[in-house]
Amino acid sequence: PVNCQKMMYVRAMTEYWPQEDPAIPCVDAGLPFQKGDILQIVDQNDALWWQARKISDLGTCAGLIPSNHLLKRKQREFWWSQPYQPHTHLKSTISISIDEEDDMKIDEKCVEAGPSGVGVNELRRQLIELNPNHFQSAVPHTTRSKKSYEINGREYHYVSKEAFESLVYSHRMLEYGEYKGHLYGTSVDAVQEVLNEGKICVMDLEPQGIQVARTHELKPYVIFIKPSNMSCMKRSRKNAKIITNYFVDMKFKDEDLQEMEDLAQKMETQFGQFFDHVIVNDNLQDACAQLLSAVQKAQEEPQWVPATWVS
Ligand code: 5GP
Repeated sequence: PVNCQKMMYVRAMTEYWPQEDPAIPCVDAGLPFQKGDILQIVDQNDALWWQARKISDLGTCAGLIPSNHLLKRKQREFWWSQPYQPHTHLKSTISISIDEEDDMKIDEKCVEAGPSGVGVNELRRQLIELNPNHFQSAVPHTTRSKKSYEINGREYHYVSKEAFESLVYSHRMLEYGEYKGHLYGTSVDAVQEVLNEGKICVMDLEPQGIQVARTHELKPYVIFIKPSNMSCMKRSRKNAKIITNYFVDMKFKDEDLQEMEDLAQKMETQFGQFFDHVIVNDNLQDACAQLLSAVQKAQEEPQWVPATWVS
């Protein structure tokens, strides 16, 4: 009989390897998948084992995957996302997660030009420079006072500490931090202002901010810019200067590079299910070209988004 039921699609919040699951009734019938894969749920009639296909492999037979019910029994928190569906022209926001720059406290103005030590701030700047009518950053908020040549709403929105904190408490700040005793941050409304102008808002977020930004309101397309592996980093970044909190110049040490690689790994493990695309930042030109092409593709082709974002 033809199954006329509307198919359900979900995003995998974790990876699954049937051969490592002693509970699966038949290992060969299991469907292995990676975190972030979109799966078509073909059959949910069995309480414990569903049948599914990966959307990248729709021509193949369905395989067994553990049901949410089974998941509850294993007391795992997350296995499947809420239902997903494809949608075109929805992704109006691009979130770029941190790479080494924020973590290593590199002052962007002090990073040498060229392939060494280039971070996401520079990538974001280049993307906007390529097409300022299309891409824009949100205007951040700050509690520091306005300088004579600055205009409220252009460089920053200047607000009191109380007003800033109230935005934080009401979850209207996507990210914020302190610098020289003043608060700085990007609000949801500032991003919305860019979107209202019909532009794509380009943001750098720490991974924790991704969950705050992944809402129906902003519909972000999340790109993880990750550092290349340690041996590549050694080649390309050995001459980059980093500026510490105390403004002392020094070269990247092996431990620093290892720390970056470990951090990227940790971020992928914890947040990989939310990444729509991953770019390895080997050098600025390549990363920028890849970023532009990923953004164009995200605009032109249907993307898998939570179904609640569409309705
Ligand atoms: P300035 O006061 O010179 O304009 O900015 C000083 C520093 O504030 C920047 O170098 C940056 O570290 C921080 N900053 C500026 N905008 C933001 C923002 O939107 N979020 C965060 N977390 N820090 C910011």
